[in-house]
Amino acid sequence: MSEKLWRKNLINIEPYVAGEQPKNENIIKLNANENPYPPAPAVAEVLAKKDIFDLKKYPSADAVPLKAALAERYGLKAENVFCGNGSDDVLATAFRAFFNSDKPIFYPDITYSFYPVWCELLKIPYETKPVDGDFLINVKDYYPENGGVVIPNPNAPTAIGVGKDFIVDLLEHNRDCIVIIDEAYVDFGRYSCVELIEKYDNLIVTQTFSKSRSLAGMRIGMAFAQPELINYMQAVKDSYNSYPLDQLAIETAIASLKDEEYFRETVGKVKATRDRSAAAFREMGFTVTDSETNFLFVKHPTIPAEEIFSYTREKGIFIRYFKKPVIDRWLRITIGTDEEMDKLISAVRELIESR
Ligand code: PMP
Repeated sequence: MSEKLWRKNLINIEPYVAGEQPKNENIIKLNANENPYPPAPAVAEVLAKKDIFDLKKYPSADAVPLKAALAERYGLKAENVFCGNGSDDVLATAFRAFFNSDKPIFYPDITYSFYPVWCELLKIPYETKPVDGDFLINVKDYYPENGGVVIPNPNAPTAIGVGKDFIVDLLEHNRDCIVIIDEAYVDFGRYSCVELIEKYDNLIVTQTFSKSRSLAGMRIGMAFAQPELINYMQAVKDSYNSYPLDQLAIETAIASLKDEEYFRETVGKVKATRDRSAAAFREMGFTVTDSETNFLFVKHPTIPAEEIFSYTREKGIFIRYFKKPVIDRWLRITIGTDEEMDKLISAVRELIESR
């Protein structure tokens, strides 16, 4: 049989595997880092009042009203904002626009599993930098020579964040290449570096409405950077598509941004449940990283992660198990409601006591 060229080219690509999306409504779903609470009430109002005739029209070219609302919320100008279908789309666009040098881009070896997928797809050379035994990132590993840097803050799935000193150090040692800080979980963390885009013309900060704003289903993400970088991203956006978001995504995102109080309240609830759940897991003997996200990364000293995953799954509680070296001893648990977390904690305790 002849070897097809296009098949040969695909050989290295390992597709991203998302968390299972079970159909059964009774499942407690703690496997995809979604928010357990609904989006802001104003989002429901937008949807309820929507005139369907409006949907005949194309959405705002370039998501103009959303860019304006984001600029206002973050104290920026609309020219500093790029919008896309979730931060995955935004990150892919940035990779496509900026990572085309012969030098490898650097990112941690334990991190968001989509980065290697885009590198393989876009033929971007990359080099991973090992995190230490406590999953900490050493900033010195990211000093040049490289073709770019991507660091999620906080990191996933380790849940560990870095502070301003780390980011400034990183930027000071990488003045000439693009530095992307993926802030998908930053609203649950300690430091967002959006303020630094004014000083560093090579910094791109990506964020999402999927986690802290409970809008994963609408697929809304954004990047903040200086206008020059935003313009390059606009230029390579899929098929030169001037409609980066659909109309409902634009309107629901704006509604969500307007309700700051609800945003703070839900983020606060998730963080309180997270800290309480982390304490409960530690009390059951688990090692738990200091989470600055809406999930926990936990390891039991004796019971294999896969066994805990299967046991809780049997009870209708889905958590995340990664079949990969090192992290296959760990579990990633999305923070649910207090009630959901109590059910998970009881199930895990039951398993421990049965052994
Ligand atoms: N970055 C990180 C670190 C993530 O974990 C995720 C969620 N899978 C994303 C980006 C993308 O999220 P979304 O496309 O929903 O904005």
